[in-house]
Amino acid sequence: VTDVESKENAIHRLLELISPEIDQEARLNTPARVSDAMDELYCGYECDPAEILSRTFESVSDEMVIVRGIPLYSMCEHHMLPFIGKAHVGYIPEGRIVGISKIPRLIECYARRLQLQERLTSDIANAFMEHIKPRGVGVIIVAEHTCMTMRGINKPGTKTITSAMRGMFKDDEKTRNEFLELIKIGGARDD
Ligand SMILES: [Zn+2]
Repeated sequence: VTDVESKENAIHRLLELISPEIDQEARLNTPARVSDAMDELYCGYECDPAEILSRTFESVSDEMVIVRGIPLYSMCEHHMLPFIGKAHVGYIPEGRIVGISKIPRLIECYARRLQLQERLTSDIANAFMEHIKPRGVGVIIVAEHTCMTMRGINKPGTKTITSAMRGMFKDDEKTRNEFLELIKIGGARDD
């Protein structure tokens, strides 16, 4: 039995346990679809943050770079339900910068795994510090956890905010405030 087959068998069994009323077509075809969807949702385990951040460019700038409002989709490891939101990343280079498009890719690399929002946030910040070696980095994630909003305490609209500050973003209040001001957390924006 291949991994794909045993995954599909497990999903098939799960459908039986959910309800015997689940219709025949679904019991037949849903396992393969769920298995494919899982491959996509958890593809982050196959990706290497070091590789994503391996190409950097020399830069004399020591000004803050911010990428704000990056869409984020992840799965909570407690319930295997989605949490959805936005990530905001800022850093101050120390001689080297990274292509802007690598930042959403880095986030996706960690988000497409079973995650805790707290760990996801610090993993992104730590990868930045390790591979780009900037003067500092700040990562903020604002997300809605469907395990809290469509079940459990059932509080739709509740947002969880996590932050990870490293280097100057942690040590220097002015830097941190500049970052927070520029991403406007708690401002008029809807996230
Ligand atoms: Zn959860």
